[in-house]
Amino acid sequence: MRIDVLGVGFDNLTMTEAVSRGAALLEEPGCHYVVTPNPEIVEVCRENPAAMRAVNGADLVLPDGIGVVKGAAMLGTPLKEKTPGIEFAAGLMGKMAETGKSLYLLGAKPGVAEAAAERLQAQYPGLKIAGTHDGYFKEDAPVVEAIRESGADCVFVCLGAPKQELWMVEHGPATGAHLMVGLGGSLDVFAGVVERAP
Ligand code: UDP
Repeated sequence: MRIDVLGVGFDNLTMTEAVSRGAALLEEPGCHYVVTPNPEIVEVCRENPAAMRAVNGADLVLPDGIGVVKGAAMLGTPLKEKTPGIEFAAGLMGKMAETGKSLYLLGAKPGVAEAAAERLQAQYPGLKIAGTHDGYFKEDAPVVEAIRESGADCVFVCLGAPKQELWMVEHGPATGAHLMVGLGGSLDVFAGVVERAP
């Protein structure tokens, strides 16, 4: 059962449980997706029914930040802990490095995903980077095709909310990847372009 915070249903998991679920989804047939809403994204969903559907339709809905956790507690339905997207991504990359899965990095300004790939490869030996693409493309089809051709198992989709959530719903299955994770500005952090938000 998910915990409702202003219409968004959050999975009540510890970080360890969330990463295990993510790793399990990678092994399942079909395309799955994970979203990591913070309070601003919950607000976006309240105004945008398509965004709300995309978020609630995810296989995993993880509370990114203390705001959602505090909100759930105030509503009398506490969540176990915050599970920030960037930490979930780190845990998942650790698992993917162990199991030899490949990762595609999509999003951010030109050059950022490549820089992130270089740093992540050094940080997680064994992690295969299947490819990268910036997030300022005009047509979706060539990007979908590039991901499909790369054979990526997992895609980090970093286009900002709610663009990334809608993109995963619309294009995820055609990419051939088993898992997509919407991660906002995380590539900028992985690339060392910006510091993680406090
Ligand atoms: N972005 C993108 N394509 C777009 C709009 C945004 O790739 O059309 C990227 C942007 O460069 C940044 C990320 O999406 O890397 C959004 O970061 P932000 O911190 O605004 O998102 P949040 O983490 O708050 O969702």
